[in-house]
Amino acid sequence: MTMHYFGRVSHIRFLCISVACLLLLGCQSNPYTDRSQLLLVPQSYENQMGNQAYKQVLKDPEVNISQNPETVALVKQVADRVIQAAKKSKYSEKASAYEWDVSVIQNDKTLNAFALPGGKIAIYTGIFPVAKNTAGLAAIMGHEVVHALARHGAERMSQGLVTQAGLTAAAIALQTQGLGGVGGQSIMSALGVGAQVGVVLPFSREHESEADYIGLLLAAEAGYDPREAVRVWQRMKHASEGQQPEFLSTHPGHDTRIRQLQDWMPEALTRYRNGPEAPVQKLPPVQ
Ligand SMILES: [Zn+2]
Repeated sequence: MTMHYFGRVSHIRFLCISVACLLLLGCQSNPYTDRSQLLLVPQSYENQMGNQAYKQVLKDPEVNISQNPETVALVKQVADRVIQAAKKSKYSEKASAYEWDVSVIQNDKTLNAFALPGGKIAIYTGIFPVAKNTAGLAAIMGHEVVHALARHGAERMSQGLVTQAGLTAAAIALQTQGLGGVGGQSIMSALGVGAQVGVVLPFSREHESEADYIGLLLAAEAGYDPREAVRVWQRMKHASEGQQPEFLSTHPGHDTRIRQLQDWMPEALTRYRNGPEAPVQKLPPVQ
């Protein structure tokens, strides 16, 4: 009886602590959009998951990592500029702490790019015709960098934890910080790396718009003409007629996206004109 009684007390106390944790640590707001985010997964754990998934992608025999020195250098140059801009942005602390890495996946048929938590990014060569030049690539890179910085992956994991395992399980996971036991597989799939390596699940409309908006600002601050982002999405719309490229398998639709980018353009142009100018180069052609 006594044991049972104590058990209940500690259970209730545990729940109270958990709720307090959720309220104190679980909610943060995005520094650009003020959107409140439920983040139950510690950054360290999120990074670990991102690294693990990235390693899997790199060693997957089906994934052909580009060894073309010019292509890789060009993509890395754009990534570096955008990341440098992020280090001077409202995300400076996080952008400086991340161990960034960018890979080019040689696959001319796949119109895709993805970011894994902690700053691991992959760009498929199939997106080059849509990016067209370094300014267009900067728009895509900015978008991906923001998915990582705004912790959209962790947010998706947190939502997954809450829906699938319930608040108590999420709190246990938070307390132990060893999420392996609590539906490790669901966390992997929340990260978008579950069933098929390198195939990332679509983000929500809010995540996509947030990545578009902040990404546009970062690309502009990095010295790339933000107006190219609109042309990227126009080309994306054209390229996706009759099919659904993975990069687009999500809301908002192209027209909404283009309209939103135009709404944000004055702010982005101000940042572009006040900053340094990045070199504009054409991306290599694909088959
Ligand atoms: Zn996205």
